[in-house]
Amino acid sequence: MSVKASLYPAALDNWINIDKGFLVIAGPCSVESRNQLFLTATEIAAGGKCPVLRAGVWKPRSQPGQFEGRGEDALRWLAEVKGKTKLLTAVEVAQPKHVELCMKYNVDILWLGARTSVNPFMVQEIADAIQGTEDIPVMIKNPVCPDLRLWVGAIQRIMRAGTKKIIAIHRGFQSHHKSIYRNIPLWSIPLALKREIPGIPIVCDPSHIAGNKHLLFDVALKALQLEMNGLMIEVHNNPKDALTDPLQQITPKELDQLINSLSKNSQPEDLLLKLDALRFLVDDVDYELLEILAKRQKLIIEIGKIKMAAKKNVLQPMRKENILTDRLNRAKELGLNTLYIENLLQLLHENSIETQMHIINKGK
Ligand code: PEP
Ligand code: MN
Repeated sequence: MSVKASLYPAALDNWINIDKGFLVIAGPCSVESRNQLFLTATEIAAGGKCPVLRAGVWKPRSQPGQFEGRGEDALRWLAEVKGKTKLLTAVEVAQPKHVELCMKYNVDILWLGARTSVNPFMVQEIADAIQGTEDIPVMIKNPVCPDLRLWVGAIQRIMRAGTKKIIAIHRGFQSHHKSIYRNIPLWSIPLALKREIPGIPIVCDPSHIAGNKHLLFDVALKALQLEMNGLMIEVHNNPKDALTDPLQQITPKELDQLINSLSKNSQPEDLLLKLDALRFLVDDVDYELLEILAKRQKLIIEIGKIKMAAKKNVLQPMRKENILTDRLNRAKELGLNTLYIENLLQLLHENSIETQMHIINKGK
């Protein structure tokens, strides 16, 4: 299902000034005080590389009793800082009341967080609240879980509310698998989003993907090599004392250095970089394949246990032949080389037999 032509998003450079080739959105995870906001924002503005100041005003915390943002006070300070720095302001909204308050304080761009885009009821409430605001730009983060349909659905709900100034934000996906990332990037999902909604600008949020400042450069570079349209980066005047996400925030000076080295390294026309980008995609697919193999192995073990309890033979030649014919037909439909798939299936089959023999011998 693709969005209708009338719902195509506007090109990014139609409504925002991007002079570095990619859009930079930077600012603190949370507004903590007037002083912290002013120190951070004035340095970001002085760097001259970032037209949009992001700032968390209401913070979705996993546990109650933690710092939940400064609310309306923060909006007041943001309006002041915008007057002083001329930066556009961007704020996360999770409730209709947030939208109303952002409009009252002239916030320029709204965004839906990953814990909001995961819930169609909440997205629809926000969509209803922005209906009638004058084409306010809205950024929609991917949902916490790797579900492309939910992300597309959230974007469609917001576009149907009447704004064409849309940005999708790729902030990675939660996973129970051990990973170097706080949220694994699964690059194939934002790329699939681009195919699903042609022309949609995608900004990568390497801060929430990485979860620490050391991985920021690598993640940001990959995003630009994959021709994403910008970066949203968490920046704090004193990251180590930040009330939220202290490990992943960088100083305005570090932001400057990061953008400089990215601008030097990320020329997408370079074929070798394109090759690198494709390799990242293959990495993703390989990880998916391994997870699928692990899932298969679990099933084989369960079957082995049942065969042992039912005193059945491990080897069932008829079933093997049927499976082979069925899988090879499907492989042909998918345009795969059948000899290669036959070899692969043979290996899988041998591993299954070996696993089940092991279970039965152990049980004797
Ligand atoms: C944030 O941007 O500070 C935030 C809470 O992000 P996410 O919704 O991606 O977790
Ligand atoms: Mn954060």
